[in-house]
Amino acid sequence: MGTGAIDYPDSVTHHTWERVLMSQFAVLRNIQPQPELVRENIKKAPGFGQYFTDHMAHVRYTIEEGWQAHQVKPYAPLQLDPAAAVFHYAQEIFEGLKAYRHADGSIWTFRPERNAARINRSAARLALPQLPEEDFIGSLKALVEVDQQWVPTPESVADESSLYLRPFMIASERFLGVRASHEVDYYVISCPVGPYFSGGIKPVSIWLSETLKRAGQGGTGFAKCGGNYAASLVAQNEAAAKGCQQVLFTDAKEGRYVDELGGMNLMLVTKDGQLITPQLSDSILDGVTRRSLLDLAPSLGLDPVERDISIEEWREGAASGDIVEAFACGTAAVITPIGRIVADGFTIDHGEEPGEKTMELRTTLLDIQYGRAEDTNDWLVRLA
Ligand SMILES: *Cc1c(COP(=O)(O)O)cnc(C)c1O
Repeated sequence: MGTGAIDYPDSVTHHTWERVLMSQFAVLRNIQPQPELVRENIKKAPGFGQYFTDHMAHVRYTIEEGWQAHQVKPYAPLQLDPAAAVFHYAQEIFEGLKAYRHADGSIWTFRPERNAARINRSAARLALPQLPEEDFIGSLKALVEVDQQWVPTPESVADESSLYLRPFMIASERFLGVRASHEVDYYVISCPVGPYFSGGIKPVSIWLSETLKRAGQGGTGFAKCGGNYAASLVAQNEAAAKGCQQVLFTDAKEGRYVDELGGMNLMLVTKDGQLITPQLSDSILDGVTRRSLLDLAPSLGLDPVERDISIEEWREGAASGDIVEAFACGTAAVITPIGRIVADGFTIDHGEEPGEKTMELRTTLLDIQYGRAEDTNDWLVRLA
């Protein structure tokens, strides 16, 4: 696998690469990487998703030959036929996870087997091929090994910088007929990212979308696919127009129950110590952060509960003082405290300060990810 002859794309000349082999992924090293000074400056203020590392991982799939030609190669634009299925029928899925540098310089990622399992649930729903777990985790290892100098070194506990990893799978067959593509490409790109909140952690305002829906019963809401995001963007614009940073979606059928945000799961904390989150369904994504916070809850004296939550219950609970904290969670921002829900005709208020349990959960999770607390659950996997 991947150790045989390598097909060089026509557009790239051989002399710019030096060829090295590593595990199952052949490494075509970029001999024109970003200069060290440029890289170090990017790592000081990386923003989010703006600057990419020198390499990317790639595995090719065809229906006849399966997954083949595993390689890490120079980061570069893709050459795709304008008739490639992904451009027309959005047969595409992705993942998102991070590589964290610990104090001793080692680099780790968090529960990647859950992302490996999830990309395959997404693949099954989008009629894309199953990717073996060793290829998924192998691609992360191979890429981070080569680009390890791009992983930021946190300067303090408040410095939440890391290397964001973005695996994705696209239907690349040149064919306009409507059926599952017979050719697929899987890539991993990566980018250094800084703290999601530049000015410290402040509760955000969230627009409750009661008319636009991102997912429905029998649909693709549980899959991590670009199409779900495309469906959420108008609502996101609506949120921005209302002065809100994010949008919250309700169930498509009745509009009574909370589903999730466009890219984050939702959690509430009750006065009597419950950590409540909507139970998984067709229209809710099984977040690794969500799962991990539910798993950590008992150690912080919280009782994890997965069940339906109606907007009405939340409104009344927040007003009566039974629901005391609300937050959104996902890999990118870890935990985002929610200060206010803005809807047509009412608001739900949780105050200007992040909740106490919200911040305890946040610190507990980050301490494990950055190696500052013992990883008693064996959640970390070493990448380099
Ligand atoms: C990725 C994602 C999340 C968060 O999942 P994590 O694994 O915690 O990063 C939540 N909702 C949606 C729609 C997502 O795409």
